Amino acid sequence: MTLDELTQCLVASLETKVDRRTFESLIRPLVVSSLDDTAGAVTLVVPGEMARTRLNTKLRSALDESLLEHLGRPFAVTLEVGPTTAKPRRRTPAAEPAAGDPPHTPPAPPSVPPARTANDVDLHLIPSYTFDNFIVGNGNRLVHAASLAVSESPGKGNPYNPLYIYSDTGLGKTHLIHAIAHRIRQRRPDSVIRLLTAEMFMVEFIDIVHQRKPFSQFRQKYRGCDVLMVDDIQLIAGKDATEEEFFHTFNALYESGSQIIIASDKHPRDIPRFQERMATRLTWGLTADIQPPDFETRLAILRNKSELLGIQVKDEILALLAQRIKTNVRDLESALVKLSASTRLIGKDMGDYVEELLGELAPPTQISKKVDVQEILQTACEEFEIPLSLMKSNRRNKELILPRHVAMFLVREHTQLSFEEIGEAFGGRHYATIIKAVDKVRNNPSQESLGAIERIKTRLGLK
Ligand code: ADP
Ligand code: MG
Repeated sequence: MTLDELTQCLVASLETKVDRRTFESLIRPLVVSSLDDTAGAVTLVVPGEMARTRLNTKLRSALDESLLEHLGRPFAVTLEVGPTTAKPRRRTPAAEPAAGDPPHTPPAPPSVPPARTANDVDLHLIPSYTFDNFIVGNGNRLVHAASLAVSESPGKGNPYNPLYIYSDTGLGKTHLIHAIAHRIRQRRPDSVIRLLTAEMFMVEFIDIVHQRKPFSQFRQKYRGCDVLMVDDIQLIAGKDATEEEFFHTFNALYESGSQIIIASDKHPRDIPRFQERMATRLTWGLTADIQPPDFETRLAILRNKSELLGIQVKDEILALLAQRIKTNVRDLESALVKLSASTRLIGKDMGDYVEELLGELAPPTQISKKVDVQEILQTACEEFEIPLSLMKSNRRNKELILPRHVAMFLVREHTQLSFEEIGEAFGGRHYATIIKAVDKVRNNPSQESLGAIERIKTRLGLK
């Protein structure tokens, strides 16, 4: 990127962050005069002492943000006062104030009409992902009810904004957000809905950075919609510039009362490398998880799917599948599809084939045993020969640290508990402590802890 191009991008980006008057007097004239990639330093020439002071104080975070967007990492900034080149004005200048106006009234911001067209052009909704085809059970009842409520009155006034849905894979998050989009589209054909994965958001954003296009169109697209749905948000964690852009998108939408719906594989605070301020905002509305379906729900899902696929399967075969495949709905579905394909194509008898199929898909040995936090704590205490009270206590003796770390790690690996809940189980510790401990054992385990982990897992029947 040349210095000229960087200047243009920077100015365009700051334009969305400051008021018009500030923009015209302080931002439009600024020029990037040097960039040292190796030293991580950038110099800007600004039009006067006042500009330098403002850019160093009130406007500093906006400036840093904009630089980060374009440079992809933080740079040390030097501001020099000097002659700045006059740049062509891209907009028609705001009307001169009328004679009676107070002298310092900032000119009104340009009125850009929100993008109200092309609503469906890139929605790509999956036709079968509707509420009608979604089976409700204990594991998803709350999320389903909230999704319905959001579809009825998206945005302002509903308490589920943002609606944040999380679960392991294959449990219906994408299905539900498509169902919400279908329903809103039916009820409010005029509303502008954007539905995309976080990855698509990132690719589109990076594309603009690389092609050095102005950000205004992208921003208008995502900050000017009525409903924004982002699937798999965890994909942008740690991608600093994209996360930053999403943060501002979120703020703009939230302030304007648009509905935000997010899906992810984890609770916001459990997403590694996710900025704290982003995670906090995502829990402002309703944060709810989907648990794996119980037997009844699995059976109901299989009945529904076989109807959708137009295949006839005896109830006892469906029950057998429901009994054995407990992981997630996607696995249930694929078992059904395989079953139907094989029997149709090879002419096998379904009853014979189902056993064969289950042998492949869910061999009894692979069905992972469920353990709970108490069992793990108990067994870890036995292994290290310490009483439970010490394991949970605040005492920081050296000989207690390793047992605690190992136990925290095992709880995290083998239960669905969040870091906060694990903190609770360990005598009310802060979740950050748990994250640190789990990371330590995961990334840098000692010989001693590896041995202990193996022995505890054997005792628990996890191996
Ligand atoms: P996720 O986004 O959580 O990974 P998906 O929404 O892609 O999961 O769901 C995986 C498959 O399971 C999809 O085909 C979806 O239709 C189906 N599915 C998930 N939950 C349900 C449910 N409660 N009722 C019916 N189908 C479901
Ligand atoms: Mg999904």
